[in-house]
Amino acid sequence: MTKSTLNQSQAQEPETITFAKVGTPMAIVDGVSFSGGDVWTNYGGNQTVQTERLFYPRTLEDLKVIVREARNNNKKVRCAGSGHSWSATAVTPDYMVSVNGLNKIHNPVLAQDGSGWTVTLETGVLVSELDAFLRNHNPPLALPSNVVPDVVRVGGILTMGCHGAGLNSRTLSDTITEMTIVNALGELVTYSAAKDPEAFNVACLNLGLLGIIYTATIKVEVMNIRLRVTDSFPTLTSLFQGPQAGLNLKARILKNDSTEFLYWPFQYFMQPDQNKNIWVKEWERTTEPAEDLKKYEDLPPMVDNPFFSTLQTGSRVMEIPDALHFPIGDGVTTVVDAGAAIKVDPDFKNACEAIMELVEKNWEFTTSMPERMGTAIEFRFIKASDKILSPAYDKDPEAIFCMINVMAASATPGFEEYSVGIVSNWIRKYNAKPHWPKMWEKVDGVVPYLRHEYGDRITRFNRVRKTQDPTDMFINDTWRPLFQENEL
Ligand SMILES: Cc1cc2nc3c(=O)[nH]c(=O)nc-3n(C[C@H](O)[C@H](O)[C@H](O)COP(=O)(O)OP(=O)(O)OC[C@H]3O[C@@H](n4cnc5c(N)ncnc54)[C@H](O)[C@@H]3O)c2cc1C
Repeated sequence: MTKSTLNQSQAQEPETITFAKVGTPMAIVDGVSFSGGDVWTNYGGNQTVQTERLFYPRTLEDLKVIVREARNNNKKVRCAGSGHSWSATAVTPDYMVSVNGLNKIHNPVLAQDGSGWTVTLETGVLVSELDAFLRNHNPPLALPSNVVPDVVRVGGILTMGCHGAGLNSRTLSDTITEMTIVNALGELVTYSAAKDPEAFNVACLNLGLLGIIYTATIKVEVMNIRLRVTDSFPTLTSLFQGPQAGLNLKARILKNDSTEFLYWPFQYFMQPDQNKNIWVKEWERTTEPAEDLKKYEDLPPMVDNPFFSTLQTGSRVMEIPDALHFPIGDGVTTVVDAGAAIKVDPDFKNACEAIMELVEKNWEFTTSMPERMGTAIEFRFIKASDKILSPAYDKDPEAIFCMINVMAASATPGFEEYSVGIVSNWIRKYNAKPHWPKMWEKVDGVVPYLRHEYGDRITRFNRVRKTQDPTDMFINDTWRPLFQENEL
């Protein structure tokens, strides 16, 4: 991929706050630091907003002060973690809350009823911090599946129903056992299945619409197994074409703990030949010991593409977090992404069709301008989530979803129109549901479509939401058309 020019906005706006940088506090209200008038931009560089106040809370009391200030001044509130979402879900010109200072992790607990280990943590904790904490625990613990990057924060990935590649791990929202949230009235509310199953379901994937999430308790498992990661680079046609392709793919997915596919359009970087192969990562659980990964560090690149040059074919046994957060990228380029959940037919034919069609559409887009060469395709398969706002929601827990993404280097010209067309096509053909943190808001007709598809689940969500946020304090432009009651 080319070096992206996404940080143009930063060049023009010297006071821009990026997802990674903590701004200089300029004022304090009741012990809570905030800066005024900062420009916040997300990781992908496609969302920028000048905020009236950007708060830096560190305690529960701080969260209550922020809500009180917002109530008194009639302001909207949205939180931001690492800013890795591409939709405008975190954005408001009123009060933004950087949750990064909420970073306590409590001692994990082994339930007496045999349901295993859980850990309670504040929502600004980085995935990398959680991994390290759990790994150092006695016994070592881990999340069995997770998002690829470890620089995102727990609040962000739980709020948005994020997922890894683990087929049976479903989404991260499905690992939650309890959540505490400061609502628009300034009250700390605890959500659990035992207390109120409906409200708990809503809280587990709440899009930041119930208030500021203070803590989450999630299931973790004893790290007494490792993952064998096998990377291969077969041809597209061998995987996705022919009468048996769908069933073969299904068998492969069901055999593995996790499977992920990565595709880039050029066989050789900046050369005209189309890539006929696709990268496959397969994870299997094993009791074999983890290998010393240092021996792989200096291997010459196998992939002639700077963004994917860390990939190596072969099979190796790794500790769970090392296997899940595999390094990718060139350290410079950021990407933008549109993605959706497609419910897979029992014979997986629709998945094969969608993949092959996307490869061709992506090729047309990529080769239509030299500046468009930095594109990629990625997909994984997970079983259904029972969280009512999950794009992978299904009543059948065995239903399988293809979580598919099309991406490009930030600032790739025309990517927004192209990705909107791709998502529209998935909606038309497969009833796909956009993944909330990805780019979906510009898809033509997406709001009526989502209202129709989520239907009663939006009504149920709103019923809980309205008890916690009667004045729509946490609703921004992304969510207003879908959830604000007077528009339903
Ligand atoms: C390079 C890259 C790779 C990615 N890989 C994956 C992947 O493998 N799987 C996947 O599912 N997604 C993936 N994503 C998407 C990413 O996981 C989500 O965008 C996630 O929400 C990012 O977390 P964050 O900390 O950056 O949250 P942000 O983007 O900052 O926030 C996300 C949302 O959470 C809300 N929020 C955060 N904390 C709180 C809180 N305490 N209270 C209330 N609301 C809160 C925010 O208001 C916002 O609406 C990837 C993104 C990038 C850029």
